[in-house]
Amino acid sequence: MLCNNKNKQLKLIFLGPPGAGKGTQTDIVSERYSIPAISIGAILRDAIKNQTELGKTAAKYVESGELVPDEIIIDIINERLSKDDCKNGFILDGYPRTKTQAAALDESGTEISLVINIFVDDNDIIRRMRGRRVCSSCGATYHIKYNPTSDNKTCSRCGGALIRREDDEPSVVESRLKVYHEQTEPLIKYYEEKGILRTVIGQEKLEDTTALTLNVIENYLKG
Ligand code: ADP
Repeated sequence: MLCNNKNKQLKLIFLGPPGAGKGTQTDIVSERYSIPAISIGAILRDAIKNQTELGKTAAKYVESGELVPDEIIIDIINERLSKDDCKNGFILDGYPRTKTQAAALDESGTEISLVINIFVDDNDIIRRMRGRRVCSSCGATYHIKYNPTSDNKTCSRCGGALIRREDDEPSVVESRLKVYHEQTEPLIKYYEEKGILRTVIGQEKLEDTTALTLNVIENYLKG
């Protein structure tokens, strides 16, 4: 664990297409700087698994690769960000994904320190998603080639069974990429104009992407 620079809080957003590695980098950064990771995708998958009211509403959107309506997502995130553990920093993985969500974040008075945009080309995304696996129990994400477990069947963290997410099926991945380009990619410019965007080129090996990501964070904390 590293100590956060006392004067600077790390209030971080990961941007990037589905499958770029936002979730993996989020977990690494969260542990290293001891700040909470807020993954809206994980919150939704949990709700779907537990068949809560939210889960029932969200399922049809998630399974077809569409975005869950803004008003639902904004409420969940605002509530989560108001908790005490977010006071000294947090990481948002998968939020904001639309201009409306970005505007809501600004309106809530949340000051974002840094937005890390992980760039990966569409063809690479499609190739990578074929090998992505998640733990059916704790939600940890793996890749059969780039981030494998010992047997690619069980989770290294909790021993749960690894499965392929339904929305990682190739046809759904295509819809998710389309949604990304239409609705989320414009946020790159939005944060660029605020002067807080840094782009990292997503590498084949996850530890190489981690090195680039940590470099951006360290430069921010030193600066
Ligand atoms: P990935 O980054 O690989 O696309 P996520 O786990 O972040 O995966 O998201 C999975 C799905 O959850 C999305 O395809 C979408 O249906 C829903 N979702 C996640 N984040 C948002 C968001 N900010 N707004 C609306 N829907 C979202």
